[in-house]
Amino acid sequence: MSFKAISRTITGWVGKFSDLDDDVRQMFYVARTARLNAQAPYSNYYVGVAVQGQSHRIYSGCNVERASWTQTTHAEQNAIDSMVASEGPVKLIKLVLVAAPKDVSINFCLDESREREIWKVKFPEISVPCGHCLQCIWENCYGDGSVKLYSLMPTGEVSMVTVDNAFPLRFGPADLDVDYGKIPT
Ligand SMILES: [Zn+2]
Repeated sequence: MSFKAISRTITGWVGKFSDLDDDVRQMFYVARTARLNAQAPYSNYYVGVAVQGQSHRIYSGCNVERASWTQTTHAEQNAIDSMVASEGPVKLIKLVLVAAPKDVSINFCLDESREREIWKVKFPEISVPCGHCLQCIWENCYGDGSVKLYSLMPTGEVSMVTVDNAFPLRFGPADLDVDYGKIPT
């Protein structure tokens, strides 16, 4: 076989909660509140998500499990569907994800003097939406791979990856000749 290897670099960014812009910080609070509403008696894994659409309004979602399992709604999809229900099929600007087992209480560190050894964070510790949700997210990116996905890491740090980095090889509207329109600037 004479296949040739081709590759690309995947990049993620890690920082402190206190370093976030105010609107992203607000989205983390919204996601944390939504997480408390999770209906997750089977997994006991509580997920909260906040999304911001092109109007800059913020919508939230949590996971909603059903006994049949396959009918479970994921938090990211729930939040995006709420956005579409309110604004129509609009472009996603950014998404914030907060997920942890039921009994974990989420507290954000606002101590700006706190020195964390961020450089010790390992790449696999960066939390990203599941494959199902990445597909849902890509549908509302309007072809814009720079849409930002933030998440709270188990270490307490906050990570950010773009859709280009989290979902590099993807199938989407363009593959079916669907064009949602020009990307709003
Ligand atoms: Zn998911």
